[in-house]
Order: sequence, then structure tokens, then C-alpha cells
Amino acid sequence: MRRLVVPLCLFVAVSAAGPSPGKDAKPALKVADDFVSAEPREPVPTSLAAALAGIKVPALGAHIAFLAAPSMEGRGLGGRGLEAASEYVAAALALAGVPPRAGSDTKKPLPEAYFQSVPIREITAFTGEVTVERRQGEQVRTRSFSSGVDCLFSEAPPQSITAPVVFAGYGIREEKLGRDDYRGLDVRGRIVAVLFGLPSGTEWQKPELVSRYGAEKTRERWAAKLETARAAGAVAVLGVEGEEFATRLLQGEHVEPRLFLPFEGGGEAEALPLVRVSPAAADAVLAAVSLDSASARAAKPIALPGVTVTIRTGGTERLVTSRNVVGFIAGSDAKLREEALVIGAHMDHLGRVGDVMYPGADDNASGLAALLEIARALAAAPEKPRRTLVFAFWTGEEKGKFGSGYWVRHPLWPLKHTVAYLNLDMIGHPWSMEEIRKLVADTGLPNGERFLAGVKPADFAEPGVAEWSPALAEVLRRAGPAAGLALHLDRTDGKNGGSDYRDFARAGLPWVRFFGNFFPAYHEPGDTADQLDSAQVQRMARLCFATAWLLANR
Ligand SMILES: [Zn+2]
Repeated sequence: MRRLVVPLCLFVAVSAAGPSPGKDAKPALKVADDFVSAEPREPVPTSLAAALAGIKVPALGAHIAFLAAPSMEGRGLGGRGLEAASEYVAAALALAGVPPRAGSDTKKPLPEAYFQSVPIREITAFTGEVTVERRQGEQVRTRSFSSGVDCLFSEAPPQSITAPVVFAGYGIREEKLGRDDYRGLDVRGRIVAVLFGLPSGTEWQKPELVSRYGAEKTRERWAAKLETARAAGAVAVLGVEGEEFATRLLQGEHVEPRLFLPFEGGGEAEALPLVRVSPAAADAVLAAVSLDSASARAAKPIALPGVTVTIRTGGTERLVTSRNVVGFIAGSDAKLREEALVIGAHMDHLGRVGDVMYPGADDNASGLAALLEIARALAAAPEKPRRTLVFAFWTGEEKGKFGSGYWVRHPLWPLKHTVAYLNLDMIGHPWSMEEIRKLVADTGLPNGERFLAGVKPADFAEPGVAEWSPALAEVLRRAGPAAGLALHLDRTDGKNGGSDYRDFARAGLPWVRFFGNFFPAYHEPGDTADQLDSAQVQRMARLCFATAWLLANR
């Protein structure tokens, strides 16, 4: 799971549903619709209540303790800990009576019948270089800049791109603010040089814009600018960084010496190549129009005549195989069983880096434990849901959502017969009362005090849900109380989401994100089993179960 989620959901709540008088503010009624009290509006069906009672803390805790144990070595992609974790998951499915896909590979011995192979490119000994060639009349000047000194490369396969360069200002297109840095520029087939961050002026300091263009994480900060450049037809982006670039390099920001990329492209690899360059390297490019990286901040976008840049990346490429683990429970209705609901959780985490181990208890042993217990409870239920349920345990989420991306391109159940995707990622940390109070205030919920009076932090969750799916939101409004939870529905499009629902969202499928809260040890070695709240994992697992049950029986 990537940190993108929290700021986005808060800002969407504020900007789209808040009380601000902006002309696209939604009516106040919408805000109230997004809050769900834990008070049941209807009796919980007995079969559902019985199944929910079967999801218990000790079993969840045992899965988490095992999957986050030191012997799992942080379940890093390409490591034996992740292999062991996937075998554990397959064995747990078999023990719970959740079969692998009917009719396919049933002759394969267990646990192999549960695996879906996911090919991944591994690149080691990465190298990168930017060459700037500037032609003035007869004279040609060439300068080269190397990775780790004057430039930093996004994760890319070995390749070489040579193209003329266009300076596209901040690389921002924001219609509402009347800004389009690409207006009148022809960047098709060109490399664009784009400044980091935001233009000056208070109108650019809105949280939504700061989160889009000024986020702390590199990938998040540049994602929108890359997408805008791609849409305009550019072939690569030179990201002009500020004076602190050298400090960042010295503090250890670098390209991983071992990269993983999806075998067929897709996902993050679809983004344009991004090379972040130092002010000195940028000056070599901008000198063609008598600018430098400082004066360019006040300059208009302009083509750079006579400047050609070559971006070259290299390394040793190798094909490696990782695996998704998949179980199926056939629907009970002869007709509706053709339709499936996919529930997924990623198995991988950050692994071991040198001597440092990243156990990933919350991220995402918590989601794995929940999914295993949901599958077990469904397999044990005397009455099966009408639609088919698919339990998918993904590989490679942390390095680029490889497993879920591969599924969307090679689904073992046709996407056109998939009703929704439910994602479990980081569900072991609850919200604090202070955070819930702030959310209520920020969204301007009418009678917010009444909602707050009925809420305890332990009984609150904020699932994300595809904004285009009112049906899914309605199912969540029923599932919350069934699981004893008050909810705030965070409705977004999910297409740049920070976990495995992203590629489903991009494929147009309705999705739900079950997520608890960020915590200080997020993506740190301190994300251990004793730090998370297994009762919270239980509540979220029950919420996901109730959602799946209601959806699969609709
Ligand atoms: Zn995660």
C-alpha cells in the first residue's frame, strides 16, 4: 500500500463534498450519505451473522504472527520468504476446503494447483546516462550526465531515447485555474523539460494541488506531470529538480540496484520515462534559450532549438517467475455462479535490505490473515452465496502491483463476468477519535455531533469505494452495521490508487478498498505483529465478509 491514500481521501472529502461555496460543491445531502452509523437499519440475516461470528481473533493473529515472522524474511519479491508465504497460503486454502479453480490443472499436486505464474523482469547492475547535444550553427557541444551524480532515473528497462527538447514550464494543465503549460507547444515525439513543484502564488497552495504536485514521495509528486506529458504526446520527461538535489543524493536517494518491472509493461511502466536532473544538467539544456533552472521558474514554456537529448538506461535483464495464489468457491445459483466477485490481498512486502528486515505485519500480513479467514468461513458456511467467490493473493504489489496487474490482463475468471473487486491492504490500525472528529468537521457533516456521539474509534472505518458505483456504496451501507462498524465512504475513481484495486479501477470494474490507518512504522522495520490491533483486523475482515456476502447474493 502506498501512502497516497490518506491525503487523497481527506482532500477529496474536503474539496468535493465540503461546505466550501465553490461552484462544483455537491449538495450537503451527499456528505450525510457518505456517513453510515453502526446502528443496524435491518436485521442481519442469520446465516450471515453465524458466518461473521466464525471470524475470530486467535486465528487471524496466528496467520499474522507466522507471515510476519523473521523466517519469512519480510516476504520480499524474488526472495524465499515470499515463496514460503505463498506455499503457506495455498496450504491454508487446501486445509480450509477452498478448492483451486475447477477444471483447470486439477491433476497438478497441491499446492501447485493454486498458483498462477506471474512473469517479471528483474534488472540488476542498473546504469543510466543523459547526453545533451546543443547545436549552434556549425558548432556542436555535447555534455553527459550520469545516474547518481546529476540525474536519477525512474525504474525503466534498458533502452535509449533520442529526441529534441521542449521546455514545458511546470508541466501543469489545470483548466480551473486557467493554466495550461502545453498550450501552443508541439511536444509530440519530443522530450519535455519540466520544473519540479508548483508555481508561486497562493492559489497553488490548496491541499489538493500540493498533494498532486508537491507530495513528499517522488513517484507521487511526478505522477500527474508524467500523465499530462504522456497525453500531450511527449516521449520522456526531464524533471528539473532544485538546489537540494545533491543533498537528496548524498542522503541516499538512488535507483534500487535491483529493479523489477512487469514482463508486458502496464501499470507504472506505462508512465513515461522520468529522469530527474540537477540544476547544472538542466542549465545545459535551457542555455539554448538563455535560461537556467532558476530563471526558468518565471519563464514561459518554449521549444529549445538545436537541443537534442539522449536518455540511455542499461543493466542485466533476467526473467523471473513469481506467483499469485488463487482459490475459488463456486456460487450456489445455477445461473448467477457465472458471475464472480474477486477479493484480493497482497502477499509481498519489502523483504530484507542488508541486515534490516521489514516484517510487514500490517502491510500486509493483516490483509492476508483476513482473506484466509474469510475464505475459510465461506467454505464452512452451510449455505454458499449465489455468485462465485475468487480469493486472490497477489505477488509484487510493493514493486508495482504486478500480481493484480497480471490478473487484469490474464484473468482466471473473465473480467466481463466479474461484478466487483474487494481489496484488503493494511487493516490492523484503527483511526483515533481526534481523526474522526476532524473528518466530520472537514466534510461539514450536518449534525456531526450526533454521528460522533454514536462512534468509538474501535467501531469506525473508512472504506474507499468506486465513485461511479452507487450500488456498491449501498452494499457498504448495509455491511457496516452488519459488522458493527460506523463508516465514512471515501468515494474516488481509484485509477491512481495506492494498492491492488488500481488496475481493476482502470479496467472499469467497481472496487472497494478496505484499509485501516497509517501508523508511524509504516514501511519501517517496526511494522511488527505486536504493534497492530488484531481486533481491528477482525472488524475489517467482518466488514469485508459482509460486503462480499451481500454483493454475492444480490
Ligand atoms: Zn500494502
